[in-house]
Amino acid sequence: MNNPFESAKEQLSAVQAIVGFDTNIMNQLMSPKRVIEVSLPIKMDNGEVEVFIGYRSQYNDARGPFKGGIRFHPGVTLDEVKALSAWMTWKCAVVDIPLGGGKGGVIVDPKKLSLGELERLSRAYARALTPFIGPDVDVPAPDVSTDPRIMGWMLDEYEEVVGHRAPGVITGKPLSIGGSKVREYSTAKGAFHVIEKAVQALGLTHTATVAIQGFGNGGSFLAKILQEAGYTVVALADSQTSVYDEVGLDVVALEKHKKVTGSLKGSGVGKDFPSEAILSFAVDILIPAALENAIHEGNMKDVKAKVIVEVANGPVTPDAEVYLTSQGVTVVPDVLANAGGVTVSYFEQVQNAMNYAWEEQDIVDKLRVTMDTAFDAVWQEKETYKTTMRMGAYALAVKRVAQAMKDRGRC
Ligand code: NAD
Repeated sequence: MNNPFESAKEQLSAVQAIVGFDTNIMNQLMSPKRVIEVSLPIKMDNGEVEVFIGYRSQYNDARGPFKGGIRFHPGVTLDEVKALSAWMTWKCAVVDIPLGGGKGGVIVDPKKLSLGELERLSRAYARALTPFIGPDVDVPAPDVSTDPRIMGWMLDEYEEVVGHRAPGVITGKPLSIGGSKVREYSTAKGAFHVIEKAVQALGLTHTATVAIQGFGNGGSFLAKILQEAGYTVVALADSQTSVYDEVGLDVVALEKHKKVTGSLKGSGVGKDFPSEAILSFAVDILIPAALENAIHEGNMKDVKAKVIVEVANGPVTPDAEVYLTSQGVTVVPDVLANAGGVTVSYFEQVQNAMNYAWEEQDIVDKLRVTMDTAFDAVWQEKETYKTTMRMGAYALAVKRVAQAMKDRGRC
C-alpha cells in the first residue's frame, strides 16, 4: 500500500510540473506547518489506565483557520493524518472558502470501547488540543467513526476549559448546540450539483444510469437525490452485497430494508450480486462512496462507466486513474466531488459566529452556488492545461493557496 503522504507529495510535484509554481512556495507546501502528537491516558471501565495516541496535523493556514475532521480508527498513522490535512487544504481552496487544511486522528477501535470510555477519550483529545484549536485557529469536525454526539462532548470540554462559549470551534455538532440543518446530507447534495455539471459538460442526459458503491451517509442520500432528479439508479452496494436492476432500483425500499436488517442483502428489490460486482456494471456514472483505493490495478479493467465521481476520499488509485483516463473515462476528483461537506461546515461556522441560524433553503441555495462555481473553475483549469480534472483541481487550489502565501509575504 502506498504511503498516503508520499502520494500527496507526488501529486504536488505533478501539478508543479504542469503549472510551474515558485519553488519557494512548493518547498513550504511539501510539509505541514505544525503537527501535534498527544498521549491520552484513559481510565477504562475495568479500572486499568490505557494510553491512546492522537494526532492533529495543521497543514496550511494561509487562506484561513485550519479545517478538517477527526478520525477514530485503529489504522490511523501520522502520515495518513498529514496526507488528509494536505488534501483538506486543496479541498477548501477548490470551493474557495476562507479556510486552510487540517486533520486529526486517534489510534483506537471505537467499537471496542464502552460509551463511557468513548466519551472520556473524546473529552481527553479535545482537552489535549485546546491550546492549539479555536474558531479562528483550527476547526475540527467529524470523520470516520466520529459523529455529532462526539462533537458535542468535544465542544463542551473545550468550552469548559476556555471558560466561555465558542460553538464555532467545531462543526458537525448536534442541532441543539449550533449544528447545521443541512450537515447530514451536505456531502451528497454537493456531489449532486457536481454530477449535474459534469453531465452537462460531457454531453450526457440526466436520465443517465448510476451505480453507487457504499450506502452510508454519502451514498444513501446521494442515491435518493439522484433518483428524485430523474437519474436511473440501477445498482447499489454495501460491504455485503451489490443490488442491481437495469430498469432502476426502489432506493427508498432498500433504505428501509437496510435500516431493519443492517444490510442491503435479501431485500427482494433487484437482484443480489457479490459486493465487488458494483464496479463492473455497465452504467454511465459510477460513484465510489465507501473506501479509499476501491478502484485499483487489479479491478480497473472491469470498469465500464463513462464517468467516475469520487464521493469517497481517494477511491481511485493513481495507476488506475492513468489507465481509466487512457480509456476515455472522466474521473471527477474527491477534492471537488465531496467538498459539499466542508462547505456546509463552513456555513455552520459562519452561523455560529453570527449567533444566528439560517433557514435550510438558504444553506441549500448557497451550497449550490459554491459547488457550481467550483466545478466551472476546475473545468476551466483542466481545459487551460489540457489535463485531467484532478490536475485541474490541484492547479486551481495550489494557485489560490500560493497567492495567499505571497500576499502574506511568506515567500
Ligand atoms: P459511512 O460509514 O456512513 O458509509 C460507508 C458505506 O460503505 C457503508 O454503507 C458500508 O457498508 C459501505 N462499504 C464498506 N465497505 C464496502 C465495500 N467493500 N464495498 C461496498 N461498500 C462498502 O461513510 P460515509 O460518511 O458515507 O463516507 C464514505 C466515504 O466518503 C469515505 O471515504 C469518506 O471519507 C468520504 N466522505 C464522506 C463525507 C461525509 O460527509 N459523510 C464527506 C467527505 C468525504
